[in-house]
Amino acid sequence: MTRSKDSSTSLRIAIQKSGRLTDKTVSLLQGIGVEFDNYKRNLMVKTRNFDVELLLLRDDDIPEYVQDGICDLGFVGANERAEKNSDVTVLRGLNYGRCRLSIAAPKNGPLKSASDFEGKTIATSYPFITQKYFEEQNINVKLVEISGAVEITPQLGVADAIADLVSTGGTLRANGLEELITIMESETELIQTNQELSEGKKELIEKFLVRIDGYQQAKKSRYIMMNAPTASIEKVKAIIPSMKSPTIVPLAESDMVAIHTVIPITKFWTVMEELKEVGATDIVMLPIESMIL
Ligand code: ATP
Ligand code: ZN
Repeated sequence: MTRSKDSSTSLRIAIQKSGRLTDKTVSLLQGIGVEFDNYKRNLMVKTRNFDVELLLLRDDDIPEYVQDGICDLGFVGANERAEKNSDVTVLRGLNYGRCRLSIAAPKNGPLKSASDFEGKTIATSYPFITQKYFEEQNINVKLVEISGAVEITPQLGVADAIADLVSTGGTLRANGLEELITIMESETELIQTNQELSEGKKELIEKFLVRIDGYQQAKKSRYIMMNAPTASIEKVKAIIPSMKSPTIVPLAESDMVAIHTVIPITKFWTVMEELKEVGATDIVMLPIESMIL
């Protein structure tokens, strides 16, 4: 595939047209200020405020489009990137679309550990990753490549076991399967072509990365506000795992202050309990749209 010259000035970004990654990728792009519409009806969408066009593709095709430079960037699962063995650069892991590629076999059957799979047949949509996993352990397996509904193949006698994407495990359980081995952990990644890019595109990508980092950081953080007795300021400061020192504003009631700060979302409940113990009241937590550190 080669890229036509006339469009080579716009940065072209591949995203999944319709599937599990679409909504979160669209939210991320909008969250970092890329404005566009009608992405559900079109295969190619121009953005209003940047020299960027979005190409809406099946996720399976994204690694190759980026590898070949048809698209400069792509948002795609690490699983697809690894399966296509594509020559691209991973710029960021994006913390959504999390899943794992696992081997599963009928519950209470004889297959338990990797060595039990010698000579067995495994159905999968990920033959490359699965083959590599068993090859590295010198175990010979037969692979049957299936593009969908892989989890019913053991019941149909097509395969002894499967290698498939799992997030909660509900689908496996519903089909009488037991998850045995995790081959790969996956999340959505932002990938970049290894083809040469113009300076203008490189600058735009740098700018997007700063915004993406800010957006990701914001998703993991909360803005908290509280009132506290002036006498407790030092105790409050010791409790809050703040990035920077908190903002402290005196209240009309002279022995009270308002304290504002940003904390990691994971610490919210423990921090809030500790703050209450040292006299903080009216604690309010707010989501943050974005932040640049
Ligand atoms: P397409 O039509 O674009 O080929 P698809 O049916 O192959 O879509 P989806 O089911 O939308 O793909 O999944 C897209 C990606 O979502 C997967 O490649 C994977 O990275 C991620 N994902 C997260 N959780 C799961 C899951 N439980 N099952 C399948 N994919 C998951
Ligand atoms: Zn797909």
